[in-house]
Amino acid sequence: MAIGVLAFQGSFNEHIAALRRVGVKGVEIRKPEQLENVAALIIPGGESTTMAKLAELNNMFPALREFVKMGKPVWGTCAGLIFLANKVIGQKTGGQELVGGLDCTVHRNFFGSQIQSFEEEIPVPYIADKEGGPLGFRALFIRAPAILEVGSEVEVLAEVPIPDKVKNSDMIKEIQEVNLESVNKVAVAVKQGNLLGTSFHPELTADSRWHLYFIKMVNDLREETMTDTESETSS
Ligand code: GLN
Repeated sequence: MAIGVLAFQGSFNEHIAALRRVGVKGVEIRKPEQLENVAALIIPGGESTTMAKLAELNNMFPALREFVKMGKPVWGTCAGLIFLANKVIGQKTGGQELVGGLDCTVHRNFFGSQIQSFEEEIPVPYIADKEGGPLGFRALFIRAPAILEVGSEVEVLAEVPIPDKVKNSDMIKEIQEVNLESVNKVAVAVKQGNLLGTSFHPELTADSRWHLYFIKMVNDLREETMTDTESETSS
């Protein structure tokens, strides 16, 4: 099985290395037709407007939307999460093209600038299920987005407390789209069917458990599709 990694900008090499560590082949994706050869896709972290411009120049958006619609597993990390969100707020300028599909509202720079990067311990659902966890995962947040609203089909896998610096910032006071008055935590990992979105960067740490979680998701969805096809042919 090969997993594609969108390779225009950002931490695509790190995702490919993380996949290699758990024995899965990662393939760089820069052209629409390359998506035909992969079972799933990772959209890495980086800078979402730059990544979107390069994706647009290479005519990737229709193919990416089609990939999502076909039910193929897609994991967006950080800027990749922004790509997958149906609604993005916190843009300084007119916005950017999105792939969409994940029914949530994402604030692009909720946790502030590069120097406000931080680490926070969060659970990993797969390991928690298997080993009776939860075992903490040191999640790394770099100019990270946050998931501020989710639709009814979306499962929240991890949340973090809103840091005081963010709570007291002008940025949060300027948010009009979502009422955050009595909110102390925000979602940083969500799942909706074939889509996984995380605000943090698992590819920049040596802990492979979120990659293993995505691979399990890919395998589970594959089995489901195979069972569906089998029951269709036998009926
Ligand atoms: N907030 C960044 C953006 O808008 C994403 C940061 C990241 O991917 N580390 O693109």
